[in-house]
Amino acid sequence: MKKINIIGGGLAGSEAALQLAAKNWQVELFEMRPAKQTEVHQTASFAEIVCSNSLKSKLLTTASGLLKAEMELLGCKLLPIAETYQVPAGNALAVDRNLFAKNVTKIINDHPNINVHREEVTKLDDELTIIATGPLTTLEITAELNDIIGEEFLYFFDAIAPIVTLDSINDEIVYRKTRYDRGEPDYLNCPLSKDQYYEFIKAVNVAEKHEVHEFESKFFTELDFNFYENCTPIEELARRGKETLRYGVMKPVGLDDPRTGKWPFAVVQLRAENKDQTAYNLVGCQTMLKYHEQKKIFRLIPGLAKAEFLRFGSVHRNTYLHGPNILNKDMSLKKRSNIYIAGQLAGVEGYVESIFSGLLVANILSDEIVKIEELLPETTISGQLWRYLLTPNKNFQPMNANFGLLPMLSEKVRDKKLRKKLYSERALRDLRNSISQVIL
Ligand SMILES: Cc1cc2nc3c(=O)[nH]c(=O)nc-3n(C[C@H](O)[C@H](O)[C@H](O)COP(=O)(O)OP(=O)(O)OC[C@H]3O[C@@H](n4cnc5c(N)ncnc54)[C@H](O)[C@@H]3O)c2cc1C
Repeated sequence: MKKINIIGGGLAGSEAALQLAAKNWQVELFEMRPAKQTEVHQTASFAEIVCSNSLKSKLLTTASGLLKAEMELLGCKLLPIAETYQVPAGNALAVDRNLFAKNVTKIINDHPNINVHREEVTKLDDELTIIATGPLTTLEITAELNDIIGEEFLYFFDAIAPIVTLDSINDEIVYRKTRYDRGEPDYLNCPLSKDQYYEFIKAVNVAEKHEVHEFESKFFTELDFNFYENCTPIEELARRGKETLRYGVMKPVGLDDPRTGKWPFAVVQLRAENKDQTAYNLVGCQTMLKYHEQKKIFRLIPGLAKAEFLRFGSVHRNTYLHGPNILNKDMSLKKRSNIYIAGQLAGVEGYVESIFSGLLVANILSDEIVKIEELLPETTISGQLWRYLLTPNKNFQPMNANFGLLPMLSEKVRDKKLRKKLYSERALRDLRNSISQVIL
């Protein structure tokens, strides 16, 4: 019987434990709660859901819906439990978090192949191990990881800017250019006039912010100082003065608008987020504004009036690794191949994505990696999330499921809803096909 240590009984760790135990592995599951809690967990349960109780949409016209459908085909263990304990939430899969987590805990505790150790792990050894300690990984094990991979590949916070689809950007307004034409014109530029800029600043200043958790308040105080300056939320910059953004992330210098031949008053730059350049990141626009406010405010930017958001901005403590630089294809550390990384620590973002990552690592461990590559074609969200974690990217940031990860359809489809439906149909057809061919 093969043996594995799993550190962290959150969403990824619980899924990985149940997957491997079902494949007759002996699982030693280490969870530090309840003796030591993270800043947000409140119970001793496995798979505790820490914030919103929604596992997002079930609709196949959404990326999260597609990811869940793919995970069900792949035999996910936690999603059927979530479905059993779902609460009414329209098209979303929302759960009774207590019942869900209690049930997962019971299944894990009762499983003959899983030994539970209620203790914090602070050292790593040579045994086969999955680390799934999540965004609030403890400092001691972070220090261990630090020694193995090096500080520069370890991030302690997460300042995420929104991502929009290329299709939703108005190319009659936005223009392609790099500052002073140095290098390839990789950026799309949204030009703002004086009035448009001040209207934008005014809207940012009055917008409602996401509440700061107590544990985050220390972190956000630090944001005011030098070290975290590069990820100060835009609303904080706008609060410091109405010109601050125009002299910072929204500076227009060297970005002549081809329609006027002049620099605009301010510019928001967009940078491609994926290889196919179907998704664009609003550079420097990390924010803690509420999602509905982000939608309203970023749509004030010329060229983005109809922006379709693949991801909203956010800022919170989040320990994650620079996967592309430090992970092997099989999610093990290049510098310590007995150690595998799963969950948010590996650079996925979100509950469902974290569960998927536990499922992925368990499958990789129990099967050959070549089979997993065949199993998860590039047309699937699950396959592309995995590839995202490994694809060189100097601006690597945690990623959630979104259609921007998928290669374009062979034909251009203007209708957004239809396009998403076609993405999902293609993904599920290809995944069913690969499952029938790849014998695991
Ligand atoms: C404040 C906050 C709010 C979030 N809100 C949402 C949201 O609304 N929707 C969404 O989709 N995603 C949200 N996320 C992101 C993410 O989806 C969740 O954090 C998710 O739980 C990550 O899953 P995980 O398995 O990687 O980590 P976790 O579920 O956090 O599990 C990690 C486990 O490891 C344990 N652990 C940590 N260190 C050690 C150690 N050294 N030894 C032993 N055990 C250890 C922890 O106690 C925990 O049980 C949020 C994240 C944070 C931080």
